[in-house]
Amino acid sequence: MSIGNGMNALFWEDRWLNGRSVGELMPLLYKCINTRRRKVRTVAEGLNGNTWARDIQGILGIHEIGQYLQLWQLTQQVTLHDAPDRLIWMWTASGTYTARSCYEATFQGSLQSYSWKLIWKAWAPPRVKFFHWLADLDRCWTADRLARHGLQHHPRCLLCDQEPETMQHLMLHCPFSRQAWHETLAWLHIPAPIPNQEASLMDWWQHARDGTPHAQRKALQSAALLVPWLVWKHRNSCVFDNATPSLGTLVDRIKEEAGSWAKAGATGLRVV
Ligand SMILES: [Zn+2]
Repeated sequence: MSIGNGMNALFWEDRWLNGRSVGELMPLLYKCINTRRRKVRTVAEGLNGNTWARDIQGILGIHEIGQYLQLWQLTQQVTLHDAPDRLIWMWTASGTYTARSCYEATFQGSLQSYSWKLIWKAWAPPRVKFFHWLADLDRCWTADRLARHGLQHHPRCLLCDQEPETMQHLMLHCPFSRQAWHETLAWLHIPAPIPNQEASLMDWWQHARDGTPHAQRKALQSAALLVPWLVWKHRNSCVFDNATPSLGTLVDRIKEEAGSWAKAGATGLRVV
């Protein structure tokens, strides 16, 4: 299915994600969708404000959550345009069916998703994976989220006192966090650039991964989970325990935690 305005293609049923359907790519997540809803939700509706996420029912297990993240990532790359949706034979350039192309199509592999790999395939304590899952969904109680719910919040990020606090700011753009990234990557001898203008942690990780030698990619992956987690904990002690932001304390904590992770299973960090 070639997606135009998304008004005809069904979000849960049709093969609109690079020629594949949600059921094929994320079978466990697909099972969490009410059968009636699957038959009516169009791509246009689903993408509008990520309404599709609200179709998911029941309690998600770790594998469903992974597939959810995978779908999230894929849907962020889709842009709708004015033309109507079209059914096409995707295995030939002309869009016309041939038996040969059909045979070849059976060898097509599945899609790669970096967010899935980052959060669920790396070694990290479950609470850290859970934190990243929530952070990726923007479900942590950062100041912007508190403000949206009309709750009391700090006007600016407590770590830098410069910008409003959002999860993206805390993880990637806060000057304080960027210093922590810098110190950590230098300490691990990882040549990747620190987060800069990336829209998400996944974007940065994907980008940083390309610039990191194979032997150090596991360490990079661990750092990508470890640094935001400890920035978040540091931020929480400033918010709840009136602690003063301290880069030295944070970096010491990162190093200490990296040592425990290495012993517990994060093989990439064994160099430290
Ligand atoms: Zn900040």
